[in-house]
Amino acid sequence: MSEMRCPCGLGNYAECCQPLHAGKQAAASAEQLMRSRYSAFARHEIDYLVQTTALGQQGALDVPAIAAWSKANQWLQLEVVSANEKLDKTHAQVEFKAHYQDLKQDGQTPQVHHEVSHFVKHQGAWFFLDPTTEMQITMKQPCICGSGKKFKQCCAQYL
Ligand code: ZN
Ligand code: ZN
Repeated sequence: MSEMRCPCGLGNYAECCQPLHAGKQAAASAEQLMRSRYSAFARHEIDYLVQTTALGQQGALDVPAIAAWSKANQWLQLEVVSANEKLDKTHAQVEFKAHYQDLKQDGQTPQVHHEVSHFVKHQGAWFFLDPTTEMQITMKQPCICGSGKKFKQCCAQYL
């Protein structure tokens, strides 16, 4: 197997984010899921980006736009600024900076995407809460993460 550095920066791809992308391993923490999602952008693993979004949001994702964003940039480096794995029992927060170059511009000017992301744990697996999806959900409906709680009392506070 070739030694390819993982886009997330933690080691060889084959021993880092690839097992997650291949569905052979689950992220052990919100930070690991976040890292694997960054690597998925870099590797154009679009299915993985969909599958690791909160269950109730997957159908609302603009998949062509995600694929276009993945491919429009050269992903240079991930910098995890901070991770709070226990906002509460099932929610976590990761702040990060994704360094990239926009290939549609000159492809040389470094850009930074700075984001504070939220994640939810459901049946032992971590999922990304996407703040950009259009959701037709009221506060009293069951939460998008599958917890069975009301949306208001679960993920709504992190979106
Ligand atoms: Zn990695
Ligand atoms: Zn929830």
